[in-house]
Amino acid sequence: MPRTAEVAVFAGLRGPARTFTYAVSDGMELRPGHLVRIGLGARAVRGLVMALDVPVPDATLKSVDALVHPLPLLQAHQLALARWIADRYRCGLADAVRAMLPPALAARAQGSALTAPRGERSEAVYALVPGASEPAKLGARQVATLRAVRVGATSASEIESVGGSAAAARSLAKRGLLTAGRRSIRRIPAEFALSEEDAVRDAAATGPQQEALDAIRGRGAFLLHGVTGSGKTEVYLRSAARALAGGAGVIVLVPEIALTAQVVARFIARFGDRVALLHSALSAGERYDEWRRILDGVADVVVGSRSALFAPLARVGLIVVDEEQEPSYKQESAPRYHAVDAALALGRLTGAAVVLGSATPRVTTYELATRGELALLELPIRIAARPLPPTTVVDLRLELKAGNRGTLSRALRIGLERTVSRGEQAILFLNRRGFATSVLCRDCGFVLPCPACDIPYAYHLNGTLVCHRCGRIENNVPRLCPSCGSPRIRHLGVGTQRVEEELHALLPKAAIARLDRDAVKRKGAHAAAYEAMRSGRSQVVIGTQMVAKGFDLPGVTLVGVINADTLLNLPDYTASERTFQLLTQVLGRSGRGPAGGTGVLQTYLPEHHAVRSAALHDYHAFAEGELLARRRFGYPPYGRLVLLQTSAKRESTVERRATELASALRASAAGDAEVLGPAPAFAAKRAGSYRVQLILRGGDPSALLDRVPVGPEWTVDVDPMTLLG
Ligand code: ADP
Ligand code: ZN
Ligand code: ZN
Repeated sequence: MPRTAEVAVFAGLRGPARTFTYAVSDGMELRPGHLVRIGLGARAVRGLVMALDVPVPDATLKSVDALVHPLPLLQAHQLALARWIADRYRCGLADAVRAMLPPALAARAQGSALTAPRGERSEAVYALVPGASEPAKLGARQVATLRAVRVGATSASEIESVGGSAAAARSLAKRGLLTAGRRSIRRIPAEFALSEEDAVRDAAATGPQQEALDAIRGRGAFLLHGVTGSGKTEVYLRSAARALAGGAGVIVLVPEIALTAQVVARFIARFGDRVALLHSALSAGERYDEWRRILDGVADVVVGSRSALFAPLARVGLIVVDEEQEPSYKQESAPRYHAVDAALALGRLTGAAVVLGSATPRVTTYELATRGELALLELPIRIAARPLPPTTVVDLRLELKAGNRGTLSRALRIGLERTVSRGEQAILFLNRRGFATSVLCRDCGFVLPCPACDIPYAYHLNGTLVCHRCGRIENNVPRLCPSCGSPRIRHLGVGTQRVEEELHALLPKAAIARLDRDAVKRKGAHAAAYEAMRSGRSQVVIGTQMVAKGFDLPGVTLVGVINADTLLNLPDYTASERTFQLLTQVLGRSGRGPAGGTGVLQTYLPEHHAVRSAALHDYHAFAEGELLARRRFGYPPYGRLVLLQTSAKRESTVERRATELASALRASAAGDAEVLGPAPAFAAKRAGSYRVQLILRGGDPSALLDRVPVGPEWTVDVDPMTLLG
């Protein structure tokens, strides 16, 4: 029987990727994972061999033209993971495979071989010519350059850093006074340079760390729960060392490389050149080079953003996902995979240990741990034993009753005065997201929900209320609060500017830094505000989401949150969870130094479990409360979701399309899912197109899509992170 190959075909960078069957001519030794050249129509393109000897209905097949590289580029476990992704997220197998290859590699059709790594990145290096006598007539720069080489400078940049010049080095080489050559370089972004000292490498593990290390050694999947500073990264590092000692590679996923520079630097400090970095800020060439170093077995510790999961390690012994709750782990274009779920799948396929780390894991992850699907490892205290800041919850309704119409509560004012008078520092956090999108009673905190879904109605500028889950529209925005009858029910906002004015009046002598969206448009504003605080020039920084990340300042002893609950008003089932995560993160900025710290949360909803548990630093209380709420409405983990979205220039087109699909789905739904909508998408209009969505919710909503096919005009998002896309 003639041999055949199933090939994932890449038709250029943007074109669709699809799977076709080709004939394999005699003598061509193909294996799954091989990159090949094939014909597609009149074009020559690249593709990846998925499987061999697949059955074909008709025998007139094109043949595979050539092998691009003698070794398979994807390992068997990667091909299996691609199949899992295609199946779970309902995308083409070829799309899943393409996501695993460096973009440069799938796109380039020409050339019958892979380029060598680091080919384009080399630099000139110079050495003294032994025995060459120095002529008398040399320019000052040439003398300086020779002196630089004599003291050990080799590359142009080194020569320049000690007073020589690259041009002079070149001319000296021409005159035979220096030997010139080239060496390949690997550029590691400056912030990841090997500067980090590795003082704790040999420190004894704490008791909880040791328990975690022992458990992880036994393989399986783990949730490592511990606040910032509790020693999680050290557990990752030591587990990684153990995997490497056993001859297996390590994958470490971090949410955003720029914000996790410290974690990355610690991996580089400990494992040096064995570390490969894979993240989106790399150029295509750099990405390819890092990928090649992994494929060639030179690097076996892969650190990067979600796609680093697809590193071509021959053996995977450990997969770490740090900050597993971060939304950036979900890819928002096809294949719409979630890196945590994919990491767990890869762990099952390879037998690697999987460690999900977080101070505030998603409750879906926590629920897996309560069911024993993940083993729960707790690191209950900070290593330096600095307590989390005692936090006061201020009820803004009572402030109003007491006649305080400002944005700063009495408790926060007192706290600020005290902090500044002691020479300490404060962070004031103003939540921008979810601002003024809902109708809120300023007297009782009541937020108007959709009666069918119990998530807040979104207030639209045309004066109507819309439920983005079920599509219900309410034209009568109440003038009086349905709960307490107050007329002060409205959507309101506070800006950082107003807070800053009040603060100036309160603390006329204090220097205040502001870091909001307007300020951040100026380049370097974030670094400048951080530096002003770090050096002590500023006593208070007011900011939006930007101060929640990266502001690690030992002088800060007070964190005040102006509006702790605005995120809760977002009409999304994850609103509480994101509120808790954000408040925890912001409060964690207080009390990092020896002086300790406190927190103040201002809110209209002091009883809300997200606010209360954040103030008490009680993750478990939050998770239990949140899971109860999720169960009541069948949200994950008690039901799975599929988000279907479509867009068109004409409103009537999307409406008809959505109504038709909705009724087809409803007609076929047989207990495996309910169909919600159609409803306008949260961004109901984007780029001039109307956007409409349907939501499938149930035990296995994907099964419904097996019976009712969905056309290419729909995007299908299985297990969406948010319904607000
Ligand atoms: P996390 O990742 O949870 O924020 P880290 O691993 O960064 O925690 O640990 C917090 C700090 O404590 C770091 O400075 C780290 O170097 C230090 N540290 C961690 N484990 C130990 C240990 N066993 N002994 C001494 N210091 C440690
Ligand atoms: Zn609704
Ligand atoms: Zn009210």
